[in-house]
Amino acid sequence: MRAQPPASHHVGGQFVESTGDSFESRFPATGEVIARLRAADPELIDRTVDAAAEAHREWAATPPVERGRVLRRAADLIRERNHDLSVLETLDTGKPLQETLVADAMSGADCLEHFGNVIATDTTDLIPLGGSPGASFAYTRREPLGVCVGIGAWNYPIQIACWKAAPALAAGNSMVFKPSEVTPLTALRLAAILVEAGLPPGAFNVLQGAGDVGGALVAHPRVAKVSVTGSVATGERVAAAAATGLKHVTLELGGKSPLIVFDDAELDNAVSGAMLGNFYSTGQVCSNGTRVFVHRSVYDEFLARVAARTERIVLGDPLDEATQMGPLVSAVQHAKVLDYLRIGRDDDGARVVTGGEAVSVAGLPGGLFVRPTVFADVTDDMRIAREEIFGPVMCVLPFDDEDEVVARANSTQFGLAAGVFTRDIARGHRVIARLEAGTCWINTYNLTPVAMPFGGYKHSGIGRENGRAALDHYSQIKSVYVELGDVDAPY
Ligand code: NDP
Repeated sequence: MRAQPPASHHVGGQFVESTGDSFESRFPATGEVIARLRAADPELIDRTVDAAAEAHREWAATPPVERGRVLRRAADLIRERNHDLSVLETLDTGKPLQETLVADAMSGADCLEHFGNVIATDTTDLIPLGGSPGASFAYTRREPLGVCVGIGAWNYPIQIACWKAAPALAAGNSMVFKPSEVTPLTALRLAAILVEAGLPPGAFNVLQGAGDVGGALVAHPRVAKVSVTGSVATGERVAAAAATGLKHVTLELGGKSPLIVFDDAELDNAVSGAMLGNFYSTGQVCSNGTRVFVHRSVYDEFLARVAARTERIVLGDPLDEATQMGPLVSAVQHAKVLDYLRIGRDDDGARVVTGGEAVSVAGLPGGLFVRPTVFADVTDDMRIAREEIFGPVMCVLPFDDEDEVVARANSTQFGLAAGVFTRDIARGHRVIARLEAGTCWINTYNLTPVAMPFGGYKHSGIGRENGRAALDHYSQIKSVYVELGDVDAPY
């Protein structure tokens, strides 16, 4: 097996094996088994949380500037090994190497570097409290939470692991990370790299397994915080379980985000944004702009241009750098997307502009491919316009005026992201201010530099990753009142 790791888990600075159920990782372009692993058993889960609690003491006492140095060293190692890490990510996810070379491990490295810098320059507040000069004041300390659990999804495995590990470790926490069972491999590489960069053994651990392992970690009494990326249903389950013991939670969940194209938009840019926001990573991106609202006066022209460019997308072997779109990640996801293509066509009655079916790619008979699909004449009540599909499926909906489109865009339980294309700068800002979404773009879509906080409103999540904001979600503030004068008491 060409991607078999030394062992299934990375605990206390070492690869370790367990006796739990075995499972396979497959290359979605061929079905080839690339690794066989075992899930963590209860004994290993306990041992790992103990190791993380032990390491937390040393790591929390390490000066912030040194913690930052370790994270930046890890970022450098990731960049040096980007090609290997990208090939592994492509094998595990099926995403084209063209993408993984620039968007996965590299974003993870950016995040480690960013929080390495942020923590090294972090300052807290000094609050003068009046009285005679210097008589009393307060200051704040930023302190870590303790053992944090990270639970990842399968669409951006190493990126998600880094987006959780970097702020957690920067703030002085330790972490136990459980990747998705579908994509277990690159998080193990990250764990080894962090140790090589100087992280104390046990400060970042990786345990494999499915939702039950995630559930056991969330329920563990020594865990202080949980951050999960996944579906709304999982987020609700995790938040409910975390309520016992009042654990902190960060939830990065799904979306059905609006992308609004006004009649004055630069149309080719809007088409580019819509395609990036629906077809990148074979459409398996939580922030995708899957409801593309296009002003009726440019609707037909938009559809013509999007169809022509969509039909030129190169599907193929993800390991070939010329390939622009790979397969879906798993047979389960493939079946789910095909079902939505049928629902859109037959039940909802939307118009298929292009795509709409599975496709086989020469030389890859076992590949889980679907044609990138554009549905037109979609209405707000259709299931394809309301439910997260998580595949390369763009829904295009016509609109007539600004108030109408804002109301329709907001008419969803989700609130992860939103985008607007317009040449009118005032309208761009005005509309974005009215949209109920946590991560927004004007005249582009789906760019997520790590300096920008990322997260959702409404059912799309709680808390933020990246920016400086994530640090607040992995730390607690201690306020200290200092009295330099006498204590005034009525007794
Ligand atoms: P899930 O939400 O089921 O899984 C996300 C992670 O949570 C996985 O690591 C999973 O483990 C784990 N998990 C599942 N149940 C629990 C639990 N009770 N306690 C703790 N951890 C748990 O997503 P799926 O991978 O099944 O994808 C299903 C759908 O979710 C997709 O079709 C898509 O719509 C959406 N999704 C959204 C993402 C986003 O970024 N917002 C990312 C991925 C999916 P395991 O998978 O190993 O069983």
